[in-house]
Amino acid sequence: MTGDPADIRDALMRAVGRALAWRESVAHGPQRPLKGYAEIRASADFSTPEDGLGAESTIAALADFAEPGLNAMTGPRFFGWVIGASHPVGVAADWMTAAWGQNTGNHHATPSAAVAEEIAARWLLDILRLPSGCSVGFVTGATMANFVGLAAARSRVLRDAGWDVERDGLFGAPPIDVLIGDDAHTTVFAALQMLGLGHERVKSVPTDAAGRILPGEFAKIVAGCGGPLIAVAQAGQINTGAFDPVGVMADAVHARGGWLHVDGAFGLWARACPEKAGLADGVDRADSWATDGHKWLQTPYDCGYAIVAHPEDHRRAMTAAATYLPSEATDERDPSHLVPELSRRSRGFATWAVIRHLGRKGIAEMVARHCRQASRFAEALGREPGIAVINEVVLNQVIVRFGPDDEDGDRLTERVIARIQSDGVCFAGGGRWRGRWVMRLSVISWPTTDEDVALSVAAIIGAWRAVRQSA
Ligand SMILES: *Cc1c(COP(=O)(O)O)cnc(C)c1O
Repeated sequence: MTGDPADIRDALMRAVGRALAWRESVAHGPQRPLKGYAEIRASADFSTPEDGLGAESTIAALADFAEPGLNAMTGPRFFGWVIGASHPVGVAADWMTAAWGQNTGNHHATPSAAVAEEIAARWLLDILRLPSGCSVGFVTGATMANFVGLAAARSRVLRDAGWDVERDGLFGAPPIDVLIGDDAHTTVFAALQMLGLGHERVKSVPTDAAGRILPGEFAKIVAGCGGPLIAVAQAGQINTGAFDPVGVMADAVHARGGWLHVDGAFGLWARACPEKAGLADGVDRADSWATDGHKWLQTPYDCGYAIVAHPEDHRRAMTAAATYLPSEATDERDPSHLVPELSRRSRGFATWAVIRHLGRKGIAEMVARHCRQASRFAEALGREPGIAVINEVVLNQVIVRFGPDDEDGDRLTERVIARIQSDGVCFAGGGRWRGRWVMRLSVISWPTTDEDVALSVAAIIGAWRAVRQSA
């Protein structure tokens, strides 16, 4: 059967049918996986297949196996983690991207994939109000975007100190001071680790109750730095949504000839929304930024953007000297010069499609709506006795405690979260904040309506009352 054109067409159509049916069931079904890891594993067939299976049957078998263990991440009442909901227009573009099968390394091989990235990059810079001369690499997510931004930073600050890190590596290089806030995202530490800068070798900057870097403390630490300097700021803390004082940090770092990188995986999108842009004032004065497509922009996985204000540093850090010579630079885009990979998916197509579909206004409205809905959650939950909203809701993040502010409260909070998840009306996750267990609500899915918020508030309060009663 393999290779039979009719069977292949049937396989593609079957995939469309199953995917559509699944998306519809998620919209109306429980906001959680139907089965857990252990259960899926126990029922799965691990034996290596000897004989092939027809194309359509293979797709059907895959869907049968996978669907029960898929989470409701595209659902309207899914508030677990800060992640988007794979907008159908982006998914459609991504289906075509897969079907077109383009290797996006360079513009000769696949001209339109390179141009789609060029256009999407221009749109992104415009919508996020970042300098139009920035270069943009299309990576898998903010983790890799942090890696790329910090690689460019490393290249530049060492070059300024007379050291070529691309050629000579880090052994014997002048030491770099790396400044980072106490409440930065773990993936930034992972990026530092991969770049040979070490996740423990940093100078930690104290933060306030919301996780924001304290500007006075930051200035003091910068004043104590002598050599090459990289500082990392955060636009959007994953628990509180808070922003570091990026503009003030940029001025202090630049006065010392350093580089400021911003992790704005989701928070950078505040700049797309006039009501919220004030939170991110001065963010455009940084040197590099990491953000995600698969969070607030709602592109399908995987998609992130590494944005750098100094394109030469960006390209130098990502390209082996043999294949990239600055003197040969043209305005023709070779996507591989801005990311670690050579062969990869054409992420520009889905980004192009989602931005084209929503438009600047649609994105601004979506961000504003999610922030409004987060505030609504905080107001409604905060009115219920025994429920405390821990953060000042400045963006789309809400953290909540159930019961007393002690270990009993930790246990109650954990039980309420488990109850909410098993009820399945909405999905909320848990995490630690300032030593205590909290429930985290991230309002960031494009399909979420105000009615979904009301239903979810009722479900959360119902779960809390049930747990309290049985406690
Ligand atoms: C999600 C997130 C990341 C990591 O992004 P991925 O897309 O998962 O790689 C980094 N920083 C912050 C603040 C985030 O919210």
